[in-house]
Order: sequence, then structure tokens, then C-alpha cells
Amino acid sequence: MIQLDETHDSRRRSWVPSAHQHKEFPLQNLPFGVFSVGGGEPRGGVAIGDLIVDLKVLHEKKLLTGLAATALEAASQTSLQALMAMGAGARIALRGALFDLLSESGTLAASAKALSSTLLHPSAEVQMHLPAKIGAYTDFFAGITHAENGGKRRGTNPPLNPNYKYVPVAYHSRASTVRVSGVPVARPHGQRVVDGQNLPTFGPCLKMDFELEFGVWIGQPNQWGEPIGIDQANEHVFGHCMLNDWSARDIQRWESAPLGPFLSKNFGTTISPWIVTPEALAPFRIAQPERPAGDPRPLDYLWGEADQREGALDLHLEVLIQTEAMRAQGLPGQRIAVSNTKHLYWTVAQMVTHHTCGGCNLEPGDIFGSGTISGPTPENYGSIAELTFDGTQEITLSSGETRRWVVDGDEISLRAYGHREGFVSIGFGESRARMVAPKR
Ligand code: MN
Repeated sequence: MIQLDETHDSRRRSWVPSAHQHKEFPLQNLPFGVFSVGGGEPRGGVAIGDLIVDLKVLHEKKLLTGLAATALEAASQTSLQALMAMGAGARIALRGALFDLLSESGTLAASAKALSSTLLHPSAEVQMHLPAKIGAYTDFFAGITHAENGGKRRGTNPPLNPNYKYVPVAYHSRASTVRVSGVPVARPHGQRVVDGQNLPTFGPCLKMDFELEFGVWIGQPNQWGEPIGIDQANEHVFGHCMLNDWSARDIQRWESAPLGPFLSKNFGTTISPWIVTPEALAPFRIAQPERPAGDPRPLDYLWGEADQREGALDLHLEVLIQTEAMRAQGLPGQRIAVSNTKHLYWTVAQMVTHHTCGGCNLEPGDIFGSGTISGPTPENYGSIAELTFDGTQEITLSSGETRRWVVDGDEISLRAYGHREGFVSIGFGESRARMVAPKR
């Protein structure tokens, strides 16, 4: 599917000093985002070490040529939508040119260095924005342990619905309330049945949760009525982010029968600002883990040989919490869960193919959430409902505080890293946001 090339060579280094051994953004990553400086107009950027390459300035300097220059023009705008729509070829050409520009031995390195005072901005001094206007947001349910844990808590026997191993289950979520990392999210009001009562009341959510999810940004669109086959599915993926699907569990429990989540999920979703491309993730591709004996083989339209061989990802995932008291004591965020994208039961290509099999058209700037990625053991649980067994057990934090649910002032951060022997490790940056008191 995706070829390794010189942009994955671990011997290559950037002339940007902070890029060397940077935990998130070394030369081999080059994620795309949209940023602004000093209240100016947003524009496309690429993270390199502690700096951001200003793609608008780079476009104006006309250093690039050919397809890379065309892609750069699209990427220099206030949204990455146009670049997303161009598909993989343009994105790969731009990545190659940026790699050359930023690497010590690159042909454009000297010209770029000469421009560095206007071309590069310290990340700490910029404001990040949503990379594109999100047209539609679909939330999948591909973390099988999370699905099973939910069924167990509800007392469903067996815990998984009969469709789970056949259908990549999803619901259409809300695009208008997706926010970029750093924007606080207000606790919603809604209908819920308070513990010990039989009838619903209206009030603030009492069981706030986070969900550790892998985000998918759609790039090249398909036409309405034209399904995307499994072997073409990855051509429609622009890249990935980390996604916190904030979830009001008490509202969800009451409202979800029979059509699924509504207000319990539509008040806010937090995504990391950088889009890590399929090319940057190529070294971390793995075979889709074999299904346990007795599980059905995916139906033919969801079965692709290449997808089974290298359609999954080995990415280390983390959830951190920092409470108000921890901030006051100067304590860093505490890791409360670790997981891995390899625990997903469905591949990203299977999600794309299933989403479109009835003719639904995907558009550049659409996003998917993978579903909560829990792993087999309790330290792998990607939601607080799982970590506390639906609030029946407390977790104790380094500050001495305990939690059954997320309280106001808690900041939740999701992170992801790719590590593989012989390759440079990369990271996603953060999806981080604070839960705050309701607005009324
Ligand atoms: Mn979710």
C-alpha cells in the first residue's frame, strides 16, 4: 500500500535543531495543521521540532515547483480542505518537498535557512485552529473491548450484539461541536435518571466521561452512489488525529434506546490539531490481528488481502488527567490508561468501505472516530466508565484525590506515539481539554 522512501530514513536529520530526537515532530513526521500568529489570518503549517513552517510564506517565496507547488498553494489557505481534496499524490509530493527543504542535506536547505526568520514560528507562540471545516463526523465502535465492557455493565448476555462482528457499527455524530485541543468543554444539561430514582429530571450531567479514540480525516471524496472498494479505501484517507469523544453517560443511558446516542455525545468533541499523514505512519503499519477462533470472517466487501496484511497500526496510546488540585500543586498530568490502535476490531479501510457501501459520499474534511480503544486489561481501559466500572469503584490520583467520573476542572489529554526498531519515533501532539461548569 504505502511505500517506504527516503522520508522514513532514520539517518536523515533536520537543520532545525529541536527536531532531532523530538518526541512528537522529528523530520520524519511532518504533520499538517492550521495556525495563526498574533491574531493574524489562519494558514496551513507543518510541525517540525518546536517550530512551525508557515506554508503561506513558503508559497509566496515560490521555492517549490510542479505538483508540490500546486499542493503547497492549496495547503497555504485558511483551511486544508483543498489539499485534502487533491488526494494522496499531491500530499506525498508536498511531503517530499518539505522533507528536502527541512533536512540538513536537502537541495533547498540553504534557501530555506536563509528565510527561517519569516518561514518558521515557535509553536509556543501560535494559536492552533481546526484544520478544516468538518462537514460530517461519524463515530465508530471498533474497540471491541470497550463494546464488550459496555455490554457487561448493562447486563447484556452475551455482551456484544449479534451484529458486532459483521458490521463496523457507528452512529452519525455532530460536526459543529468539534473543537481543537485547548478549548474548554462545558458540562451539558440534559435528561437523566439520577441514581436511586425512577423518573428523569433535567439538569447537569452527573456522569461525565472521556473516550480515547483514533481520528480519521477524509481526503479525496467519492461520488454519491459510488461505493469505495476495500482496496481503494486508503486513498480516501488524508490523515489521523487523536479524538476525545466526551460522553455524558447518564444522559446516554436514558436517551439511547432505540436509536443510539444523541445529546450525550453532541456537546463537544476535542481533537488534536495536527494531522499525521498515512505516509508518516507507514513504518507503524501492521497486519490486522487475526480474529479469535470462532469469529466470522468479514463479508467479502470488507475483506482485502492488502488491508489484512498491513491495514492496522501499532500506535501506543495514552490518557492523562490533570485536576485543578494537581495544577495548584504543580503536579503534571497523570497517566491513567495506556492502549494501542492494534486493539481495533476493524481497520480504517473497512470503516471507509462500509460507510460508503450504500452510496454515501464522503467529503474532504469529514472525520471519523474509531470508537474507544480499550485493551484487554484494566490499565488499557480508554474511558472512565470502564476504569471505575460505571462509577462503582474509585480511582486514586497522585494528588490523593479520587474519581468516579470526570469533575469540573479536570483536564483530559490523549496522546499517541509510533515506535519501531530502525525507525524514528513520532507522536501526534495532544488532544487536551478541560471540563468546565455548565454555562447556565
Ligand atoms: Mn465514541
